[in-house]
Amino acid sequence: MQGFNEGFESVTVDKVCKHYGSLKALDNVDLKVEAGEFMSLLGPSGSGKTTLLSILGGFNRVSSGKILFGERDVTLMPPHKRDIGVVFQNYALFPHMTVLENVAFPLKARGEKAASARERSLRALATVELKGYEDRDISALSGGQRQRVALARAIVFEPKLILMDEPLSALDKQLRDIMQIELRALHKRLGATMVYVTHDQREALTMSDRIAVMKGGKLVQVDTPRRLHDYPNDDFVASFIGESTLVPLKRGSSDALMLGTTALRTNRPVPVGSDLFLAVQAEKLLLDTDAAGAEWNRLNGKVSDIVFQGESLKIFVELEGGQQISFRQSSHHEGNLRLPQVGAPLSLRLHPEDTIVVPKAA
Ligand code: ADP
Ligand code: MG
Repeated sequence: MQGFNEGFESVTVDKVCKHYGSLKALDNVDLKVEAGEFMSLLGPSGSGKTTLLSILGGFNRVSSGKILFGERDVTLMPPHKRDIGVVFQNYALFPHMTVLENVAFPLKARGEKAASARERSLRALATVELKGYEDRDISALSGGQRQRVALARAIVFEPKLILMDEPLSALDKQLRDIMQIELRALHKRLGATMVYVTHDQREALTMSDRIAVMKGGKLVQVDTPRRLHDYPNDDFVASFIGESTLVPLKRGSSDALMLGTTALRTNRPVPVGSDLFLAVQAEKLLLDTDAAGAEWNRLNGKVSDIVFQGESLKIFVELEGGQQISFRQSSHHEGNLRLPQVGAPLSLRLHPEDTIVVPKAA
């Protein structure tokens, strides 16, 4: 096993295809995950995330292409030789074993002596903040605690690569939010390379160094959270990331970008072609009464609905051309005072730096 214990592993996915009969679950996927990086695979259900992750784990075979860990070709290597930690959605703990026995299991399976297995397991439990829980039964733990036991079991043998497939999806929202921050911190502590599958864009934005967006077995964009959010490649990525609405644009005379009868200003690159959309992100819109210079775009419409969501109000606006967009107003005293009425005309401002124009996905 030389090589595996020298620093962390980069992962290279090289022209990988996976067919199930006539279905292309993975279609020529190329991806490089840097050593120590937190990479999320993000996409809707059926886009090929689990297929790719299980190929990285060795639980599934490629139809063609290669997988490298560092410089080593592991395409045909069985899972137990890959030295990876794995956490799945249903994290399959052994219900008849204690917390400690569960965590020590991978070490015992590797033939480690009882005393050192115990010591390393206790250290792993401390890492996931379950110190003192070692003698409990699995059945006596909450969902979040079980999740952490599964994590401890995945990290106990100090793998260089950790794979996770929607590990938080069974938890309620509050616990999920906490675990996202914990997983982020755990990754910083361990420094291991992580590949994390999720269909939840907010989760991916919260935790990842980079995100690989998948659609129909293809990678459509691989970027940092901020780049994905601010520079989506097409309407699919734009609609999937953040809280945005896509409004069709037309090309006017001398290539002007027309939203209805309004010519839009943008300081951003404008794609070629004519099938274009304005990606309107809710947080980028200001009420006309907010300070905004003359260079800002003005979007006119009327309020069609106002939804109270606690920390903020979501305000739906029907633009003059009939398209529906929305923006948010913070739910504080000032914000409430400036709240428009349903049915009232209003004008929203959008800065040219925030005027994101995307082409239709291929
Ligand atoms: P995701 O994890 O993004 O939801 P999957 O990787 O599970 O997507 O599935 C990708 C596609 O491959 C889907 O269309 C799915 O139905 C299909 N698929 C996955 N596993 C199998 C299998 N064992 N046999 C046949 N089709 C499969
Ligand atoms: Mg899946």
